[in-house]
Amino acid sequence: MSSEIEQLYTRLHPKSAELAARARDHFPNGVTHDTRKMSPFGIYMTHGEGSKKWDVDGNEYVEYRTGHGSLILGQAHPEIVKTVQDQMARSTHLSASTEVEIRWAERVKELIPCAEKVRFHSSGTEAVMMALRMSRVYTGKTRIIKFTDHFHGWSDYAAAGNENGAAGIPSETASTMITLPSHDVAAVEKAIEGGDIAAVIVESTGAHMGGDPIHPDFLHQLRDVTSKHGVVFIMDEVVTGFRVSPGGAQARFGVTPDLCTMAKILAGGLPGGAVAGKTDIINTIERGDIGHPGTFNANPLSAAAGSKALELVATTPVNVKADAAADRLRKGLDDVFARLEVPGHSYGIASIVHTRIGVSAEVDEYGIIRGEPRGEPISAEADHELSMAMQNNGVDSHRRFLMAMTHEDELVDRTLEAFEKSLSEVREAGLI
Ligand code: PLP
Repeated sequence: MSSEIEQLYTRLHPKSAELAARARDHFPNGVTHDTRKMSPFGIYMTHGEGSKKWDVDGNEYVEYRTGHGSLILGQAHPEIVKTVQDQMARSTHLSASTEVEIRWAERVKELIPCAEKVRFHSSGTEAVMMALRMSRVYTGKTRIIKFTDHFHGWSDYAAAGNENGAAGIPSETASTMITLPSHDVAAVEKAIEGGDIAAVIVESTGAHMGGDPIHPDFLHQLRDVTSKHGVVFIMDEVVTGFRVSPGGAQARFGVTPDLCTMAKILAGGLPGGAVAGKTDIINTIERGDIGHPGTFNANPLSAAAGSKALELVATTPVNVKADAAADRLRKGLDDVFARLEVPGHSYGIASIVHTRIGVSAEVDEYGIIRGEPRGEPISAEADHELSMAMQNNGVDSHRRFLMAMTHEDELVDRTLEAFEKSLSEVREAGLI
């Protein structure tokens, strides 16, 4: 017997249910991205504008998935649309170098401190694969240190050691990856002293887009220990690049890595990735040590959208607006928890808002819990009900909110009302 929340969800989304039934025959789990797997079915969207999205049943949402973090400018930003349309009419692929890829690289270098040279890819997964390979060639060593739960795409190397979804990775590959807990620089140094370490890679604000935050001191410690031992330090800025500051986490925290990987905002909402960093390391390609063809490397559409997006980040208050919206949301969410007397709190850096629902705690400015937390995270069932309730109440996302500069006050306030209503509904259902 489904819950009242689920019954309403099913009533509000009949066309999505139909499409999900069709999709089940085509795709594993009926979806094309793991995080879209949803019971009883996921919602099918048709279009978006600013920070709103609409589904196939005509329902409107305030949206916080933000193109998995790529759309800090909001959905269908008029200047991105125009730039892409103009480029589309000229060519999507000239099988040749273009001026627009140079403009794109110039914007990256203007914003990102470590970027002496750049190589473009089609995704963050590819950019990370390249960064690891470059580090191995550059140092002549093999093994890579990463941190528990830090996500760097789905390649064999990046996924090695993951608790779920890591089958089929050759043991030889997996054995080159060492996974250590965050915040333990002594363990990192010990592993480096064990020998054969090419690089250390870190999600720049912590695992799960900073949901499990690291302190920036840890970045500085990693920088020091890798410099001391001649190991390449890679900051994965796929999420944080152009978001936690226009120059990413490295600019915000004053840590310059040897290499960084980027994607998402980098390409203005189109597919794209890049590795950037020290000339000598990126030139492992120039020296012929690493081959790097790729049909869609720096394709003109992504290059056009990306260079326009970075131009807007560099020259207009994109980050200021998104960060201000996040501040409003964080404060409002904390007020809701207090008003409903449900344990919980919000945290997150810049324009990323996380919540720990069910847990009250003092947190520092990075969202790290200080002292004893009170309560426990809500159950998976409550979390699922909350996610459906939020969608019933017109908000797409319920626990993590990636902000765009288009999250105007009215939309944030609408979100807070929806959150209060949804949390109350889940509590009335006896799940919180
Ligand atoms: N690195 C981080 C920190 C990510 O969050 C992601 C994707 O979310 C990736 C790498 C992989 O990027 P992509 O999905 O573009 O392959």
